[in-house]
Amino acid sequence: MTVIGLGVPSIRGPAAGSSGPAPVTGPLIDTFGRVATDLRVSLTDRCNLRCTYCMPAEGLDWMPRSEMLSADELVRLLRIAVTRLGITTVRFTGGEPLLVPHLEDVVAGTAALRPRPEMAVTTNGLGLARRAESLAAAGLNRVNVSLDTVDAAHFAAITRRDRLDDVVVGLAAAQRAGLGPVKVNAVLDPVTGRDDVVALLTFCLEHDYQLRVIEQMPLDAGHQWRRGEVLTGAEILEILRGHFTLTADPAPRGSAPAEVWRVNGGPGTVGVIASVSQAFCAACDRSRLTADGQVRNCLFARDETDLRVLLRSGADDDAIESTWRSAMWSKAAGHGINDPGFVQPARPMSSIGG
Ligand code: SAM
Ligand code: SF4
Repeated sequence: MTVIGLGVPSIRGPAAGSSGPAPVTGPLIDTFGRVATDLRVSLTDRCNLRCTYCMPAEGLDWMPRSEMLSADELVRLLRIAVTRLGITTVRFTGGEPLLVPHLEDVVAGTAALRPRPEMAVTTNGLGLARRAESLAAAGLNRVNVSLDTVDAAHFAAITRRDRLDDVVVGLAAAQRAGLGPVKVNAVLDPVTGRDDVVALLTFCLEHDYQLRVIEQMPLDAGHQWRRGEVLTGAEILEILRGHFTLTADPAPRGSAPAEVWRVNGGPGTVGVIASVSQAFCAACDRSRLTADGQVRNCLFARDETDLRVLLRSGADDDAIESTWRSAMWSKAAGHGINDPGFVQPARPMSSIGG
């Protein structure tokens, strides 16, 4: 794999490079001057699929339920994030967030916050047909549905479950419920992915879904990721260019991880998220909260900060805010996947929240 850039930030901003403590007010900032406005909240580490690049066939040792945050605890942390730390967008993920019965309660509690954040869910789509209306009614804005192939046999091989039809029905229900623009997230299989991506983009264009293809990252629980097997962003574009005309989308990319292309002149688009070969750490605006109440300042962070213990020991909002600020202040420059000494984080993607 050709690594094009490390995408690490240069030191900038008024407090940048400081070895002192985190600021006590203002945005959620790190020592490189990056401001986190996007919070990824994992609601569970459990899942009803077993995608090969994410989980082993037998599943994992799930978090004890007593350690998982309740709906009230989650909404309290979300209130602190939105009203004190400047979070403006919230994404609920997992594990599979639709396995969480109180998802609508958390969405409704978040929708009541002021300023009201934008809210999205990343889901594998199983059960979405039943929940799309109630999620929209609770105040959810959008969904991203993960779908790597529209070939039923390939789907069963990748997810180890024969559930393609449920995902397709879930996508349509999300569209009908107004949870759009509906985005489709795809991680390509190194072998079948070359064909899958062409059929998937055709399917997405037909249904007005926005496809986002994500390079596979070293976050699988089985530590099976092999750099040489990953289909890179550049390879994915080359394959697509054999079937479609792609032109760069003129809209500014900002902190969005996807490089977006118009397909056959538009209006359909496809995005490529080259997290490994073209890291975008310099523009990162994310903070993460795990289902057991740990703040992570990066997907690839090796340390995390425990807000659950604070919450459950009666800490006030000031204490939680300042702990969260300190956690983000110490964010590393980049994910380091391409460094010779890279070590995969102990938590897999399903437990961090993708
Ligand atoms: N279960 C939900 C789903 O699949 O959408 C939400 C959680 S899943 C961990 C979130 C996203 O992470 C999915 O789009 C999935 O494809 C992606 N993902 C999982 N493992 C990955 C890996 N090793 N590299 C890149 N993306 C991965
Ligand atoms: Fe489950 Fe999502 Fe991981 Fe697939 S990617 S196993 S759906 S958490």
